Amino acid sequence: MDQAGNRAVALAPGRVEGHFWLGANLGLTADQVVQETRRCMSCGYCMDCEKCWMYCQDQAIEKPMQRGVVYGWKLQNCTGCSKCKEICPCGYIEMA
Ligand code: SF4
Ligand code: SF4
Repeated sequence: MDQAGNRAVALAPGRVEGHFWLGANLGLTADQVVQETRRCMSCGYCMDCEKCWMYCQDQAIEKPMQRGVVYGWKLQNCTGCSKCKEICPCGYIEMA
């Protein structure tokens, strides 16, 4: 018995009693941690990393001044070099 009067249950290694295991945080292995760090966290949306804006050498990308506003493209300046598409970590930019 513990201090609260609950029944103390001694489980054999690997044995699960009831459904308590459903809420258990079993943690991650080292390999799983590495996989998680590589996972895209944006689901295809722009996450305002500024990379496209920094890499465009033709000033064809307009960085918004407010959070939540999407980046704009000045197509008259764009040479179609695809650097912005290649550097975007989210797959947000598509070239037509
Ligand atoms: S394709 Fe090249 S020139 Fe056009 S916006 Fe992207 S980086 Fe700039
Ligand atoms: S590189 Fe992609 S994610 Fe980063 S600001 Fe440009 S469009 Fe957004």
